[in-house]
Amino acid sequence: MLDMKKTKFGIMILLFVGGCVTKQERSFDIVEYPSPVLLRECENVAIGDTEASLIFRELEKKLYEDESCVGLAAPQIGVSKKIVVIDIKEGGNHLYRLINPKIASHSKEMSFSPEGCASMPGVYANVLRYNSVIVEYMDHNFQTQSVKANGLLAFCLQHEIDHLHGKMFIDRLSASERAQIVKKYEKSHSLAKQKVKNQ
Ligand SMILES: [Zn+2]
Repeated sequence: MLDMKKTKFGIMILLFVGGCVTKQERSFDIVEYPSPVLLRECENVAIGDTEASLIFRELEKKLYEDESCVGLAAPQIGVSKKIVVIDIKEGGNHLYRLINPKIASHSKEMSFSPEGCASMPGVYANVLRYNSVIVEYMDHNFQTQSVKANGLLAFCLQHEIDHLHGKMFIDRLSASERAQIVKKYEKSHSLAKQKVKNQ
């Protein structure tokens, strides 16, 4: 009897360990504010980084799952690396895969861009951005590229590059507007959490 108990105990330990292993597998769910991964500088990606293709695949999947999503940065799926995907989905699809993107130059003129963020669902604000930018980056094959963009693509590039430096769109607002948006977000967020709990 004692042996049987030991065996059962052993099986339970194995199951528990098995469960832990499953939990340790990376999930790549969308990370929401104020998760620390969204608030810190991401690492530069080394040429030939073997993880990059997996991260691109996950980002692209989420980019096309949500019709309203026009860009995503790796920290938004919990990966602190300088990787971004963008498709503004205007006039057909054009996917940009960007590694270590940086703004090489920008226009003097700025405009307000109406923005939201998958990591801060339910709130929106008008953010002051450069009208046009030139962004240098490496593509998914680690080839150096640059893109000159204006309008929505320029705004989107600036929003996603901000993510790589731990900056959310709310960090571009005045202190009072930022506080207002955060308050609104926290309120709707806790209501949404409560709803899920009550289901
Ligand atoms: Zn965002």
